[in-house]
Amino acid sequence: MNDFTIKQSFILADELATIAMGNQLADIVKNELKQGVVVFLNGDLGAGKTTLTRGFVQGMGHIGHVKSPTYTLVEPYDLPEWQVYHFDLYRLADAEELEYMGIRDYFNNSSCSFIEWPEKGQGMLPAPDIIIDLAYHDEQRQILLHAKTALGERLLSRLVK
Ligand code: ADP
Ligand code: MG
Repeated sequence: MNDFTIKQSFILADELATIAMGNQLADIVKNELKQGVVVFLNGDLGAGKTTLTRGFVQGMGHIGHVKSPTYTLVEPYDLPEWQVYHFDLYRLADAEELEYMGIRDYFNNSSCSFIEWPEKGQGMLPAPDIIIDLAYHDEQRQILLHAKTALGERLLSRLVK
């Protein structure tokens, strides 16, 4: 059991609500935490992991498309004050491959990582600040956010619907 007990849960009515949630996470990181976070994203295909990440990446200041890095494993966004990394490890055959990608260099105070299918990178990823579970809820989605570090707790405590 850990000491970080904050959990938040919301119903996301549609794609725009999922994007808005990603935008809000970005606003809190940029304006209040002022340091990078590591986020693990769990949920079935189509649950909204990439959509949420798109909201975050655009909220951090990226203008333009956010494509799913299913085949490239990671899509980097080099923004003026931040690096944002969107990982999708679905097709990763062996976590060791991440070592060859130089994954250790990806994580620092001014980088944010949103990681889909983190279990595929087990042993090679830093501990997450928050874990997000996305699930189908009829035509909508449910999002559950759990804080795993003090930083994650600060992030979630500022989150409002
Ligand atoms: P994942 O990365 O988890 O596989 P995607 O984000 O690629 O999922 O796809 C999610 C799909 O569900 C998209 O078609 C998107 O339009 C839709 N979607 C996203 N958020 C919601 C929501 N809150 N309610 C209903 N549909 C959503
Ligand atoms: Mg995806």
